[in-house]
Amino acid sequence: MDVFWSVYIGVVGLILGSFFNVVGLRVPKGESVISPRSRCSSCRTTLQAIDLIPVLSYLMIGGKCRTCKARVSCFYPIIESLTAVLYLAAWFYWGLSWQMLAALLLISLLVIIIVSDISTMLIPDKILIVFTMPILLIRMTTAPLDPWWNAWAGAALGFVLLLVLAIISKGGMGGGDIKLFALLGLFFGWQGLLLTFFLAVFLGAVIGGVGLLVGKVQRGVPMPFGPFIAAGSIITLFSGDNLLTWYSGFFS
Ligand SMILES: [Zn+2]
Repeated sequence: MDVFWSVYIGVVGLILGSFFNVVGLRVPKGESVISPRSRCSSCRTTLQAIDLIPVLSYLMIGGKCRTCKARVSCFYPIIESLTAVLYLAAWFYWGLSWQMLAALLLISLLVIIIVSDISTMLIPDKILIVFTMPILLIRMTTAPLDPWWNAWAGAALGFVLLLVLAIISKGGMGGGDIKLFALLGLFFGWQGLLLTFFLAVFLGAVIGGVGLLVGKVQRGVPMPFGPFIAAGSIITLFSGDNLLTWYSGFFS
């Protein structure tokens, strides 16, 4: 049974990951996620069903368009695999439960944000709105935080913290970041929100610093912050309780 569920959740992760690629690339540009069908970005040939199997198509065509032989970005299969791995991790960690469903919702949101922020430097309102309702519902009913008001405390803290930063940094943080952190606070509560924020800033500073040193990042050119927020959120999701217990151990 476990093998069945592992395969099932892995395959669902791959298929949804493929869909999240489309959502993350199209929604910020105001395009429909259903039509037109995906095309080669180089020769504009409409992709056939055989080209749309997550990861496998990429491997079968050797990372090149079947028509024009232009290289296909390895970004797509990476996002598909990432989604599948994180879905499986949620299943191993929580088993079939409301907690797992909450985790899947958050993972889905984060994957879309990674794609949209890397491709367009935007975190679209539409995406945040679509995910706010189910996350709010699940936190207020079947998978509440302890105490129940912690979700509201987290949302308020996330909003205020990022708003203050946006004002201080004079636009270094966008409106999308403020709304996203309010939503993350709703999901994690105020302690998890602070941890996520710290991890995102820390990872952004370290990787941005290394990027500057090796010349991959240029001074003054903005770097998408979404992937670091996503990484911080994933660490908090899977090990936040342990990290917070470890940290508070220093003060007791
Ligand atoms: Zn092509």
